[in-house]
Order: sequence, then C-alpha cells, then structure tokens
Amino acid sequence: MNSGKLIVFSAPSGSGKTTLVRHLLEQDLPLGFSISATSREPRGKEQDGIDYYFLSTTQFQEKIQGKAFLEYEEVYQDTFYGTLNSELDRLWSSGKQVLFDIDVVGGVTIKKKYPKETLAIFVQPPSISELESRLRKRGTDNEEKIKERIAKARTELEYAPQFDFCLINKDLDQAKKEVVQVVLDFLNS
Ligand code: 5GP
Repeated sequence: MNSGKLIVFSAPSGSGKTTLVRHLLEQDLPLGFSISATSREPRGKEQDGIDYYFLSTTQFQEKIQGKAFLEYEEVYQDTFYGTLNSELDRLWSSGKQVLFDIDVVGGVTIKKKYPKETLAIFVQPPSISELESRLRKRGTDNEEKIKERIAKARTELEYAPQFDFCLINKDLDQAKKEVVQVVLDFLNS
C-alpha cells in the first residue's frame, strides 16, 4: 500500500499533549487516530478498540514475534504499548492521515522509519516546575508517582531536538491555534 502522512505527538506526561490531539481531531481535517495496543488493564470508561486494543501480555508478545508492530515499548515496567502496522493500513485506506499520541521513544522510531512522511511534534511544558504543579493539580498521582513522572520528564526532554517541531505549551488557546496551523501546512505540503 502507498504510504500517506503521519503526524506524531510525543511529550512528557502533563504537557497537555492529549488535549491538543483531541483538539485536532475535532477540526474538519482528514485525520484519524492511531489506536495503540497495550498490555495494561482498561481504566475507567476506556473501551477496547476505541481507546486502545487491550491485549494480555501473552497476546502482546505473540504480536511482537509475528512482527505485527511498527514500534512498541515497555513504557512502564511490565507494561507494553505499541502501534500495530494494521493501523496504518486501516487509516490510509479510508483516506485519512495518521495521528499518533505516543511516548517520545516511539515517536522517534516512527520518524526514523518514515522520515519524509512524518511530522513529529514534541509538546514541551514551559518548565519542570510548571509540569510539577500541573501534575499536582490534576490530582491523579500520589507523591511517589509525581516524583517518578518528573524524573522521566527530565529524560524525555532530552529527545526534543530529534523532533521536527517543538511546541511550548504555555498558553493552551495559543498552543491549539499553533498546532492547527502547523498540521495544516504539513497536510498541504
Ligand atoms: P497511558 O497508560 O497513560 O494511556 O499511556 C502511557 C504512555 O504510553 C503515554 O506516554 C503514551 O503516550 C504512551 N503510549 C501510548 N500508546 C503508545 C504506543 O503505541 N507506542 C508507544 N511507544 N507509546 C505509547
């Protein structure tokens, strides 16, 4: 199958990446969301085949052996996440370009596999202290988890230069406008 375009969003957690991805999907643009596979359990109202393809660790490993993944990572210990090659076929064959919300290592892998076809966007929090205060306000993590996420964020920030575009999410409305413009320019290029 001929390849279409790929738009990758990666960021440390708490950067506002998912909000920006949702905003893009609400626009009248030919974009489809790449549903990742994961070995973690569904949370809250998450549904299989909508939020993720929820697989057991064994099923996930079978797919790794069958070379079904474009990329996969053990993002957290014993918890795997990955993009199935079949997602690209599913979206491209329906005339859509593929939008990804994945971790920084996965983002870099996709950019390396499809260098010309990919726009890789890194969403950066204004500062580590701002990120810390957002994670606290969000209230979904305990103190230990917040410390863990901050340590991970410091490492993740080092990947920013490998992305095509670095969006500093200081003001959300401004970031939303900027992201729509960058994606439109890329789709029209
Ligand atoms: P969560 O469990 O909070 O939904 O996601 C945890 C992390 O896994 C996030 O940083 C998310 O971007 C990342 N992630 C989700 N899907 C994929 C994927 O297909 N590949 C990779 N490499 N990371 C993913």
